[in-house]
This record gives sequence, structure tokens and C-alpha cells, in this order.
Amino acid sequence: MNYSKKTIEDIDVSGKKILLRVDFNVPIDKLTGEITDDNRITAALPTINYLLERNAAVIVCSHRGRPKGEWKDSLSLAPVAKRLSELLNSTVKMSKDVAGEDSVRLAAELEGGEVLLLENLRFDPREEKNDPSFVKELAGLADIYVSDAFGCVHRSHGSTCGVASFLPAVSGFLLAKELEVLGGALSNPSKPLVVVLGGSKVSDKIGVITNLINIADTIIIGGGMAYTFLNALGHNIGNSLCEADKLELALKMIEDAKSNGVEILLPTDSAIADRFENGCHKRIVGVCDMPDGWMGLDIGPASVELFVEKLKTAGTIIWNGPMGVFEFPEFAYGTKSIADAMASSSAVTIIGGGDSAAAVNQFGLADKMTHVSTGGGASLEFLEGRELPGVECLLDK
Ligand code: ADP
Ligand code: MG
Repeated sequence: MNYSKKTIEDIDVSGKKILLRVDFNVPIDKLTGEITDDNRITAALPTINYLLERNAAVIVCSHRGRPKGEWKDSLSLAPVAKRLSELLNSTVKMSKDVAGEDSVRLAAELEGGEVLLLENLRFDPREEKNDPSFVKELAGLADIYVSDAFGCVHRSHGSTCGVASFLPAVSGFLLAKELEVLGGALSNPSKPLVVVLGGSKVSDKIGVITNLINIADTIIIGGGMAYTFLNALGHNIGNSLCEADKLELALKMIEDAKSNGVEILLPTDSAIADRFENGCHKRIVGVCDMPDGWMGLDIGPASVELFVEKLKTAGTIIWNGPMGVFEFPEFAYGTKSIADAMASSSAVTIIGGGDSAAAVNQFGLADKMTHVSTGGGASLEFLEGRELPGVECLLDK
């Protein structure tokens, strides 16, 4: 995939009407109607401000939740318009429809330096179908398409790629950074490239492993998925997570890594529990000593030491998937240790994946990383080396 795409800095935006696709799918308290986390809104401000400073008229669009093509008051973007107005310190207009009469009128009237927010894209059933009639209506509102919604680039929707057939299409600053850092790490990483993979399931990460086996120098495997690998190698894993239908695949991945000269590191010990519950009994055992009836919920201290030593040698570290059930404080040690090691590393450090990003935020270490990807599913597909429709559709540099 070509990661080198034009940005808003490579095109003349001054005085133009801009259709800006963002990800304003923010959590809103059902009772109070208040936005509980406005990170996704503040993250788009640099792009919006850049456009406003150049006297562009900015038509912002986003989805929120899963209204399935129907109007739902509870999923309106009205609270977002209010918050965005506060953040920009100027009134953000809002349309009553997605690309209908009201949007057409407001977009036509919109002047340079003003912002219009369209109503939830997914209120229109044609958005997710990438319907040509919808795409034409949406594109008709503007002169230029700017995408800053990295979390949505793996989707072929009207607003994520369809409109790019009708308008010059470039990235905003958020998407540009994702492409630069993630794309750079995959196409031209500072070596050695060490990849840390965890999370619950091997099946979620097959594509990532398969792609990274061609790129990485070392792959560290922890989390629940490590037990499928350990089991495949003949270890008793008690009641730990195991995908019985992936044992052969796990062995094949180990073989493929060997023949590619890629080192694979697996845990040598585990923090185990007698039941899946906060407040359970906890013990540390070597991977050869798993007692029946117990389950591994975190990597143990010897594994932490092994993994952290390896991270110290890295030029680039890509991390996807927690090392254990970090939601239970007793089993957060492995995940926290990897996050700490990355935070104090001078390597390029990249976090991909929703839960991994949540863990790093929870530990307060996000700003110590080179990059915490804003796209959960999108960052995984990126690491799988897949062509992303919302990136493909942008103009090449
Ligand atoms: P990401 O969203 O970063 O890609 P995943 O969704 O793949 O990460 O995995 C996150 C989940 O994996 C977490 O909820 C965590 O509790 C779970 N997990 C990690 N290690 C284990 C384990 N040993 N047993 C069970 N679940 C685990
Ligand atoms: Mg997840």
C-alpha cells in the first residue's frame, strides 16, 4: 500500500468549501446528555483551525453509534455541535439532515471561516452502502474532501471513500500522522523492529502476525493468545484461553518465523488464577508447571524481564494487545511493565488497538509514546498490511 498521500498542506484550501470527515463518535451519558470524553473532538481541532485560518468554509461530517440508517434522537450529533462551538469559541451551525435540503442550503450559505456540522451520517441508510446517489449529494456540498477519520478508513462508506471519486481528496493532520508513523514503521522502520502482540485471541491477530513475520526482527507474544502457542508446543495450560482449532496454525507461524530469521519470544512464566474474577487466588508459576484447574491471566516476572531486555535493543516497537487481563489490578503488572519500558525507550514507540490504547491511557503514559493510534480496528487492518479504502482514495503525493 502507498502511505504517501497528499495532506491539506499540499493543496490550496483558501476560501474553499471543505467536506471534512472526522470521527466524532464520542461517548455521551444517556442520563445527562453530556459528552463524557471529548478527546476525539479536540483531536480534530488542529485540522479545523488550519482550514479556518485560511478562510475555508468547513463542513464537518461524522457518524455516531449504530443508528442503522434511521433517525434516532439519542444518536444526534447536536451535543457535539455544542461542544465544538465551545472549543472553537464560535457558533457551529448544524443541519437537520445528512445531505438533504437543509444541508444543501446551509452549505451554500456557509461563509469562509464558518463551520457547519452535518447530522449523523448513518441516519441515512445510503452512507454505509456507499450509494452513488448519496455520494453525489454529499460531494455536491463542497469543493475539496479532507479525511481526518483514521478510525473509519477501513470502511468503504460514502463519506470515507465514495466522495473521493468526485472531489480532490487529501488527509488532515490526524490521518497524516497515522500514515506517517504507522506507514513508516511498516515500510521503513528504525531497526531492529520489535513487535509485541497480546490480547485474548490468536484468531484476531492472525493477519497481523502473518504480515509482521515478513517485517519484524522479533515478535514477542503475550496475553491470552500466548497460551495457544504454549499449548501447541506441548505445555499444559490448565484452563487458560486456548483456541484448539488454531494449534496447527500457531506451530506453522513459529516455523515461518524461523525460516524468515524472525525471533519469537513466548512467556516463560505466568501469573495464574483459580477463577476468572477480581479477588481470586493468584500464583506465579513457570510455563511448565501450570496446575490443572488454574488459568494464566498475565505474564510472570521472568517473562517481563525477558521481554523488557529485548525492548531495550529495539529501534522501533509496535505494540498491539495487552499482556494480561489488565482490567484486574492483580493482573495488570505485565501490561504495565511493557508500557513503562516503551515509555522510557528512545525507540520509535507505537501503540495500536483499542484496548492497548486504553491501557496506556489508564497508566497515564500516552504522551510518552511516539504515537498512540486513534483507530482500533483500522490500526489492526493497517498492521495486517491491508489496503484501506479510506487511504487508497486520497491523492498520492
Ligand atoms: P486490542 O484491542 O488492543 O487489539 P485485544 O482486544 O486483542 O486488544 O485484547 C484485549 C483483551 O485481552 C483485554 O480485554 C484483556 O483482558 C484480554 N486478555 C489479555 N490477556 C488475557 C489472558 N491471559 N486471558 C484472558 N484474557 C486476556
Ligand atoms: Mg480490543
